[in-house]
Amino acid sequence: MSREIERILDLLQSQGRLSREQWRFLLENRSKELAAEVFRRASSLRDQVYGKRVFIRGLIEFTNYCRCDCRYCGIRRSNRKASRYRLTKEEILGCCEAGYELGFRTFVLQGGEDPYFTDERVVELITAIKGRFPDCALTLSIGEKPRESYAAFRQAGADRYLLRHETANEAHYELLHPKEQTLKNRMECLKNLKKLGYQTGAGIMVGSPGQTIDCLIDDLVYLTELQPEMVGIGPFIPHHDTPFRDESAGSVELTLYLLGLVRLLLPRVLLPATTALGTAAEGGRELGVKAGANVVMPNLSPENVREKYLLYDNKIHTGKEAAECLGALKESMAAIGYEVVVDRGDFAGL
Ligand code: SAH
Repeated sequence: MSREIERILDLLQSQGRLSREQWRFLLENRSKELAAEVFRRASSLRDQVYGKRVFIRGLIEFTNYCRCDCRYCGIRRSNRKASRYRLTKEEILGCCEAGYELGFRTFVLQGGEDPYFTDERVVELITAIKGRFPDCALTLSIGEKPRESYAAFRQAGADRYLLRHETANEAHYELLHPKEQTLKNRMECLKNLKKLGYQTGAGIMVGSPGQTIDCLIDDLVYLTELQPEMVGIGPFIPHHDTPFRDESAGSVELTLYLLGLVRLLLPRVLLPATTALGTAAEGGRELGVKAGANVVMPNLSPENVREKYLLYDNKIHTGKEAAECLGALKESMAAIGYEVVVDRGDFAGL
């Protein structure tokens, strides 16, 4: 390990930020050895803040209707082949019920931007879930909304919101999205969410088409400014019915490296080892935890809709990522020294 690299890692940990040139140095000089050092530091930091504990979130993919047309995403509105579904309030509550029994204390309602779910209906859902499970945290991941909508959801009891920024580079954002979707609005949404007191999650896909080292530097600088409580990072995986069908998937190694760097940048961050990571590599989520992650999000959606919520090809939906297989997940985490806990798992220091 060069002295220069050690010095930059020390700086990152002591001042919580780096210059663009220092980030570039870390990204361009990635090696097995450097990655191992980043993972070692990141793990030790995560253990200091959260202990050897992994938090679980029950993911409920409640609708795959979407008004957006993100070029990477399998449920984009232009994909006429997607078989669309939405869950009823009773079905969603049923998922929570099953999840609660299994030990979940956070539910994540994720979906496309489905116009059927008006603010009124979302508020009704939040009220029902928080009324029935008052000891649980509720996370929303339903895309870009006006500030007033976010305010109403928060008022109704939503605790957290996941909205990956996808890329902090303007030109790259335009490559990934149609004109009507702008980085400016995405960032405005994230700012509003933070201001409204949500534990807020940003994040990116690693290796999305057109992503360069400069884009990743933009992402790391943006995360430094935003100081999100959560960061979702997973590899891009092509979907066969999208414009990016022939693009290659993102690198698992780079994804892990970025997880480690983000832990060093934001020591208290809630960092999931994502389903995409588990899809891209056997044992991917365990590798994610070893790199610095401390959250996994098993799927609580009803069996019959899981294969329809297909953001990318080959999405795993029957193995350890499924909520029913929590036992297997617990074992594989125990095997690397981590305990899957029954806990809301809030951001440390709230
Ligand atoms: N509609 C909501 C949430 C659903 S999409 C929103 O826009 O926030 C959740 C995340 O899945 C996206 O933020 C994106 O980063 C990721 N995703 C979408 N398509 C993907 C693909 N092809 N490969 C990997 N991740 C993908």
